[in-house]
Formats: sequence, C-alpha cells, structure tokens
Amino acid sequence: MPRAIVIRTTEPVEGGPVNVAAVEQIDPAMLGDDPVLVEVHYSGINYKDGLALTGRPGIVRSTPLIGGADLVGTVLQSADPRWQAGDQVILNGTGMTETRHGGFSELARVPGDFLVRLPDGLSEARAAALGTAGYTAALCVLRLKAAAVSTEAPVVVTGATGGVGSIAVPLLAASGYRVAAVTGRVEEHGDYLRGLGASEVLDRSEFTEPGRPLQKARFAGGIDTVGGHVLANLLAQTQYDGTVAACGLAGSSALPATVMPFILRNVTLAGVDSVQTLMSRRQAAWELLATTLDMQVLDSLTTTVTLDDTIAAAQRLMAGQSHGRIVVDVRA
Ligand code: NDP
Repeated sequence: MPRAIVIRTTEPVEGGPVNVAAVEQIDPAMLGDDPVLVEVHYSGINYKDGLALTGRPGIVRSTPLIGGADLVGTVLQSADPRWQAGDQVILNGTGMTETRHGGFSELARVPGDFLVRLPDGLSEARAAALGTAGYTAALCVLRLKAAAVSTEAPVVVTGATGGVGSIAVPLLAASGYRVAAVTGRVEEHGDYLRGLGASEVLDRSEFTEPGRPLQKARFAGGIDTVGGHVLANLLAQTQYDGTVAACGLAGSSALPATVMPFILRNVTLAGVDSVQTLMSRRQAAWELLATTLDMQVLDSLTTTVTLDDTIAAAQRLMAGQSHGRIVVDVRA
C-alpha cells in the first residue's frame, strides 16, 4: 500500500471545520482514474502547502485529499498516448492540494494535459527543489523580459528569502538584471541574499507604511510576492515604462494603491498565476530555469525532508523559521 499525506476534515472545533493532515497508507483506488500513473519521487513544500498542511482555510476545497502542489517522478503506466512508461515528468499546480490529489504520495494518477517533460540536464531532485515556487519565479521573470524591463536600474524582489524570492533573485541576476532584494530579515539573511546574486538588500520596513502615490522612481521593475503596502510602494517607486509582476500575498491580499503610477509613469502591473498556466508558458518557464539558473546556487538554498518530516517542516515554514526551498524525498 502506498504512503501519502492525507488531509481530512475533522469535527468542527471552536467555530469551524478544521483540516488535519497525517501520513497514512492509502488504498490505490483513492487515486481515481486519471490516465497516467506516476511513481512520485519528489515533491516540495510551497507556501500553499504550508497553509494546507497546517489546517489554514482557503486552499483545500474537498477532503479527504492528498496534499502536495508539486510532483516529480516517472510514469509507470499511461493510457494517454503522449506519455509512456519510463518518462520523467513534472506536474505543478493544476488544482493539486486544492481539489485534486497531489504529490505527497508514493503514487499519483494524473491527467496527461499538464504534465511537463523533465528538461534535459535537470535532475528530478532539482526539479522538485524548483517546484511551483521556482516555476512561478520563472513565469514572473518571463513577464519582465516580455515587457523589455530595462537593465539600467535595479529590479526589486520582495519576500526575497521565501521560496519564490529565493529563485527569483538568482534567476534575475543570471538574466542580466541588478537585483534589490527586500526582506524582513536583513540581519539574519543579508549574506544569504547577496550569495544568491542580490546587489543590494533592503529592509522590508522601508515599504510597509502607507506612502505617497508617486515616490522617487528607483526600480526598473519588480517581482512582488507580498502584496499590501509593500506592493503599493513598489509601484510608486517604479520608473517610467516599468513592469511589476505580482504573484503573491504573503503579507496581504489588499492593494492600497492609486492609479498614478499607471497613468503618469506608464507602469504595468502584471498578474502571474501558476495554477492554470498554458502549456506553452509552462514549458518556457521550465526551459528558462534549466538553462539559466546556476544549479549550485539552487543546491545551496535547498533542504530535503522525508514524508514523515513534511508536516513539521510546513509548520516551520508558516512560522517564518525557514528560508529557501524544501524538497520532500517521498521514498526516503
Ligand atoms: P514563502 O513562505 O516561502 O515566502 C514568503 C516570504 O514572504 C517570506 O519568506 C518572507 O520573506 C515574506 N513574508 C512573510 N510574511 C510576510 C508579511 N507578513 N509581510 C511581508 N512579507 C512577508 O512563500 P513562497 O515564496 O512560496 O510564496 C510567496 C507568495 O507567493 C505566497 O503568497 C504564495 O501564495 C504566492 N504564490 C503564488 C503563486 C501563483 O501562482 N500566483 C505560486 C506560488 C506562490 P522575507 O522574510 O524575506 O521578507
């Protein structure tokens, strides 16, 4: 019987249903009847997994559900002609850990439509280290490149020590941008961020208070994982023709901004979603990661846990006690 982390809804406690996650042996029939059976080798812990595994509301929409927004592994059987036994595959998002079973499982049954072939030269473990966070960072970098964001001024990354930020910083640096990394943990992680390729490290507190609609324009663009006043101030500090890619809400889902940067500085706010991304964009993002990112930098920001340690690692992530990326070695 395969092992998996299953999220179940318990009896309502103090005002509402609570989801609880645990490692279980599952009946393979639970996996459903999607055409591609994958032996999962690795998954990873994203912010979304942190929320789901610690019972926070808003992510898991049907239970019981196997958690894990990412999976990397090898096809065992396929009724979809596009995939054959032995193919090495990546799957990110597409409703996993929301409405579909995910990658914290030794086996998964998935549709063939959103599977990405493991790019040449990228190991399965590194693909999991990148995971949704890395692939989302790549989608953001692609948005900035498509907008021809200038390399003359720094590009800013917020939530820089997090999963998305930790990949966005070296990916931007390797793409020729000067990177200003914004973190709430300058003392603790300034050297870490400079090691990833940041040319300057800025304290998040510079961005957290309400600011003027237009401020000194110091950034060519940015990648924001935080939302709220941080995003509003970042827009107000973006140069003429700049683009800010917004993918996260680690601080807030609010956007207390004005239209002034848009109508007076031609600034673009570009939304980035990784869950329902078109296949062509998924492949472009994975290609960018495989060909541009320094894999030794990736290894330096990765820690690995077992399936049994995953829930505790998710708790540390949500408590702000970890940084970089956490890989789950599902078979360890
Ligand atoms: P992590 O938890 O790994 O990192 C988030 C980082 O945000 C933290 O490390 C911290 O960085 C910063 N942060 C945490 N709390 C606050 C706060 N209250 N105010 C300001 N900054 C804060 O998460 P990920 O990097 O995996 O994800 C980041 C965001 O992106 C999340 O909101 C996630 O849901 C979203 N996301 C969206 C995707 C999409 O498809 N659009 C896909 C993947 C992620 P520091 O200490 O350095 O400031």
